[in-house]
Amino acid sequence: MDGVVVAGCALLGLLFGSFANVVIHRVPAGGSLASPPSACPACGAPVRPRDNVPVVSWLVLRGRCRDCGARISARYPAVELAGAAVFALVGARVGLDWALPGYLLFAWTLLVLAVIDAETRKIPNRLTYPLTPVLAVLLVAAGVLNGVPGAGLRALLGGLAAFGGLLLLALISPRGMGMGDVKLAGFIGIGLGYLGWAHVVVGVFGGFLLGGVVAIVFLATGFRRRKDLIPFGPYLALGAVLALLAGDVLIDAYLRSVGLT
Ligand SMILES: [Zn+2]
Repeated sequence: MDGVVVAGCALLGLLFGSFANVVIHRVPAGGSLASPPSACPACGAPVRPRDNVPVVSWLVLRGRCRDCGARISARYPAVELAGAAVFALVGARVGLDWALPGYLLFAWTLLVLAVIDAETRKIPNRLTYPLTPVLAVLLVAAGVLNGVPGAGLRALLGGLAAFGGLLLLALISPRGMGMGDVKLAGFIGIGLGYLGWAHVVVGVFGGFLLGGVVAIVFLATGFRRRKDLIPFGPYLALGAVLALLAGDVLIDAYLRSVGLT
């Protein structure tokens, strides 16, 4: 049964990874998601259905447009593979549970926002505004259906706490963080709050830790100078996914190390 769930989630992840590419490409540019149909950015030729199979088409075409031969970025199959991998991991972690749709949405949104933030240094309201309430509704409903309504309530409070905490930090040190990061933290707080308060703490601090370590390495190696803005969203997203997938293990190891269990 678990294998079926994981395989189904992986397949779904390939398809939603493909849709993630459309969102990553169009939302920052302000374009519509429904139309026009996908076309080669170089020659404008429409993408045929057989050239639109996740990962496989890119490999068959060797990363080039069938019509004009222009290079197609490896980002497309990479995002599709990342979608499949993260959906499979979420399927293995959550299993066949009412919370599974919420956590697939959680993982998909984090993947999309991480790539957009890395490329544009922005976290679009056009994604956080609609997807945050959808995640909240899915997890509150999951709490009721699973007979743990307290977990749904904790998701809402976790969202408020993470949003409030990062808002405070952004006000104290406005150069480090943008309002996009604050809204992303609210989204993450909802997803991790359903699991437990410790998961919210692990996810947000994990993001800070990852972002801080990378910033120090960048500064030390001269890869980036201090005045260059290092996007924080990808690290928040990575910390959140780690807290979802491995939070229990990390929390357990910590409690054991300080002698609390
Ligand atoms: Zn072309």
